[in-house]
Amino acid sequence: MSLYTCGPTVYNYAHIGNLRTYIFEDIVKRTLLADRYRVKHVMNITDVGHLTSDADEGEDKMEKGAKRERRSVWDIAAFYTDAFKQNMRELNILDPDIWAKATDHIKEQVAWIQKLEKLGYTYQISDGIYFDTSKFPSYGALTGQKLHELKEGARVEKNAEKRHPTDFALWKLSPQGSKRQMEWPSPWGTGFPGWHIECSVMAQKFLGETIDIHCGGIDHIPTHHTNEIAQAEAVTGKPFVHYWVHGEFLVLNKIKMAKSGDHFITLQAVKDKGISPLAYRYFCLGAHYRSKLTFSWDALQGAQNALDHLYKEVESYGSPKIGCAEYEQKFSRTINDDLDTPRALAIMWDLIKSKNPGSAKKQTLLMFDKVLGLRLDKVKKEKMTVTDAVRELVEKREQARKKKDFKKSDELRKRIQEQGYDVQDTDRGPVIKKIRR
Ligand code: AMP
Ligand code: ZN
Repeated sequence: MSLYTCGPTVYNYAHIGNLRTYIFEDIVKRTLLADRYRVKHVMNITDVGHLTSDADEGEDKMEKGAKRERRSVWDIAAFYTDAFKQNMRELNILDPDIWAKATDHIKEQVAWIQKLEKLGYTYQISDGIYFDTSKFPSYGALTGQKLHELKEGARVEKNAEKRHPTDFALWKLSPQGSKRQMEWPSPWGTGFPGWHIECSVMAQKFLGETIDIHCGGIDHIPTHHTNEIAQAEAVTGKPFVHYWVHGEFLVLNKIKMAKSGDHFITLQAVKDKGISPLAYRYFCLGAHYRSKLTFSWDALQGAQNALDHLYKEVESYGSPKIGCAEYEQKFSRTINDDLDTPRALAIMWDLIKSKNPGSAKKQTLLMFDKVLGLRLDKVKKEKMTVTDAVRELVEKREQARKKKDFKKSDELRKRIQEQGYDVQDTDRGPVIKKIRR
């Protein structure tokens, strides 16, 4: 089974909205593995060519990120790629078999554009080579809209030279007189690839002309994935993908979470509140992947409490022995019913409440966890070893709070967090919690 998932554009940290998509894709993959498919999974890293608008306008996100941080684009790419991989590990997301980097595949992308050119799908205007969407009759099929509807829906066109609003850049030429940090020679002049071409080219390089499953966030349907299909199928004449699977967005009080803008919560921000990455994973599993999920800190704390409860239960069970077949079948049926993770979690809690012996429950939970990925196999009694120094800081903070010196109390909380702990203020006084990393 071949699986391609669109990866991050590495100009900033991933926000927890992005991470919801990778968690959903991990469930797709783990379900296939649990069903005993062999999966070959490729994820790309976009380190060039993604402009600030998906419609080929604005600055390159990477060059913009480099300017913001006064570092080289290559540094930015390496730094945020590492940060992303770290997030993946913390969320217990399985690594792809192949990480494919856009800048490692410039030659292949140029060669693909040449093929499109030969077949008559391209035209050149002053800022680059474009794909002529009118030449590809089924353009836009993924959206369920006709080409003229897509055109009408396209926003006001900024590039007057484009023949049709839906046409998109395959190769962008470096602007005259300015040197970009990332640019390459090509038959059309020095420049860089458009964003969409990398996925069509790298997916086919590693997975063949037709791939089984291709995933991404729902925002990719109208532009990125629609363009991936056009570029790929125009050359091969074969279906590019058998199944497209898209995940809905994480939203903040109905506001979309964007990588640029104020509503930007990272996994680090979650950890800073004393909430574990796996609690965020649990939170995501509580919603179906095709539903919007509204984020709130309260709901996330609820997920942490549920996960703590789950770990406590698992801790109390004996060594795993013959599982509960009835629950295992139910779980498997449910997760295979369009990846119904909320119901799968409900089955898990039913099992926990059931009268089955602990050893059987544990065996079955470990089987569930192959898909859920909550690290139930690693649950062990984690002793809280709060040092005297931490207790002293908590005591000082409590005194500062009593005097309503909130500035001092915040400073002290920071120092407590640096020691790996957090305090929760309850009616019974401060409760010390270990921060899970
Ligand atoms: P990017 O790094 O911007 O290319 O985005 C990485 C992935 O996150 C893509 O698959 C997007 O579709 C997805 N994505 C972006 N914003 C959100 C969001 N708020 N909720 C869920 N997924 C998102
Ligand atoms: Zn892609």
